[in-house]
Amino acid sequence: MISRRWFRRRKPDVDCREVGRVLQSYLDHNVEPDFAGKIAAHLDECKKCGLEASTYSKIKDALSATRPEVDTDAIERLRSFGSRLTND
Ligand SMILES: [Zn+2]
Repeated sequence: MISRRWFRRRKPDVDCREVGRVLQSYLDHNVEPDFAGKIAAHLDECKKCGLEASTYSKIKDALSATRPEVDTDAIERLRSFGSRLTND
């Protein structure tokens, strides 16, 4: 779905804007391996994008950890657990 952008490969590396645009696709493994390698390299070097990527993947993990029919009680409990951790 982002393959059209592959025509713009003159620049050797991806920049922050590019990473921001494809970050979710990247985390969903929806980008070409070659491109994914460039993103991974950028995330390694760029604190800003690396932080964003880890935030995204934490959210993704949390979402995929919940069952489709999870009740809101469990989410609430998880949420207060999380805020207790950060408030300590
Ligand atoms: Zn960056």
